[in-house]
Amino acid sequence: MSTCIFCAIVARAAEASIVHEDEHTLAFMDIRPFTPGHLLVVPKAHASGLADLDPEDGRRVFAVGQRVAAALRDGSVGRPGEPQDGPRADGVNFFLADGVAAGQEVFHVHLHVIPRAAGDGFGLRGRPTSPRRPDLDHLAGTIRRRLGA
Ligand code: 5GP
Ligand code: ZN
Repeated sequence: MSTCIFCAIVARAAEASIVHEDEHTLAFMDIRPFTPGHLLVVPKAHASGLADLDPEDGRRVFAVGQRVAAALRDGSVGRPGEPQDGPRADGVNFFLADGVAAGQEVFHVHLHVIPRAAGDGFGLRGRPTSPRRPDLDHLAGTIRRRLGA
């Protein structure tokens, strides 16, 4: 995937500020962060969306996201006795856009890890609705059948 910017970052053919690397995943700072510390976790193997993502890579990406989220929230990240620097989040949002309609712009699966603090201005737009239980049951049944359950 020579035209994929995240594959280029994985191959070190494009610049990135890397936070974590292991055999299967890479985590690096988002160049247009919503909040300070906003970063992305990607599988090294190219997958354009959830449909072609190896579920094992999905688990690995989520697990790295968990570790990074803990580091973002952790007040003890620095060496003992040294002053803390960098973001210290009061909360973290995970976000993953799958498909154009969901807002996906880079077609290499990536998990956004977004540190949160009160009043940081980040939020999802949208208004919850109040469907009746029979409508929820009907939808649940439809999706269950698609899952083959
Ligand atoms: P999406 O809307 O596809 O979920 O988000 C794509 C994200 O990738 C955006 O937050 C955008 O800022 C980030 N991004 C796009 N190009 C680059 C790049 O070249 N380097 C880095 N580090 N992030 C990028
Ligand atoms: Zn790619």
